[in-house]
Amino acid sequence: MTYNPDLLDPAKRHPEKQKNPDRPAGKKPDWIRVKAPTSKGYEETRDIVRKLHLTTVCEEAGCPNIGECWQKKHATFMIMGEVCTRACAFCNVATGKPDALNPFEPAKVAIGVQKMGLKHVVVTSVDRDDLADGGAEHFVKTINEIRRLSPETTVEILTPDFKNKAGAVETVARARPDVFNHNLETVPRLYPSVRPGARYFISLKLLQDAKAVDPSIFTKSGIMVGLGETKEEVGQVMDDLRAADVDFITIGQYLQPTPKHHPVMDFVTPEQFAEYERMAKNKGFLMVSATPLTRSSHHAGEDFVKLTAIRKARLNSPAK
Ligand code: SF4
Repeated sequence: MTYNPDLLDPAKRHPEKQKNPDRPAGKKPDWIRVKAPTSKGYEETRDIVRKLHLTTVCEEAGCPNIGECWQKKHATFMIMGEVCTRACAFCNVATGKPDALNPFEPAKVAIGVQKMGLKHVVVTSVDRDDLADGGAEHFVKTINEIRRLSPETTVEILTPDFKNKAGAVETVARARPDVFNHNLETVPRLYPSVRPGARYFISLKLLQDAKAVDPSIFTKSGIMVGLGETKEEVGQVMDDLRAADVDFITIGQYLQPTPKHHPVMDFVTPEQFAEYERMAKNKGFLMVSATPLTRSSHHAGEDFVKLTAIRKARLNSPAK
């Protein structure tokens, strides 16, 4: 939930997109079905989030899995405010001039993690191109506060590209998150129209650099499909991620937040997702999640347990 009433208005939330023509998505196919957010667990999660004035990407991005995740008290915290300095064509997070960082935010997130009793937490952020370090230190403070209050909780971060600011990735990786996730979002050909403020090879390098700081950190990245990419291009992204030693790839269907956002070019069938999963496994990823409702942080806790077990098994296998 946004805490700024102005940001409830889509025109104020996405001022840069108002010049776009309306391109409403067609009817969602039968295979995209989500659970209504009505359970007791959902309400308990929402109460903790509200009381601590926390921001979640679950709400800001309008994630279709919120009913399922919040029922299980799994929320993904979004730090550094609710306003992003970028204006990606797919994203529902508000764009504009952000407020100053809240120095109490790392502690508040840590209290939220503790209250929810999370075994594994995902922390993401808006892009903060206005900050000298892109927000790297704020990530570190948040990781450290979570570890202080919940030493048994594993921490996954989903970072922006820090606008390629010198030393930012290394600063964050040295805080040793258990999983370092950074999404490529789409294939390189579509960057100018989907992710115009970013560069594909900078994002790839970020993942490689995080792994280089500490090879025991799991690295993870995701793309959305249904934006106009070809199967060959998806295969190329997989190869590029493997070349950067990325462990885990997530692939999910793009859903359009408002008619002013990038149109859905197609709804990828479950059979095609299964094909992507086979392709990625054959290319050597430790783990793959490729389904219409796959999102970076969906089932992140369960996936972390599996990742750890798969790595252990591979290390113990004489063939590897
Ligand atoms: S998939 Fe991630 S962003 Fe979506 S509701 Fe679940 S935790 Fe939140």
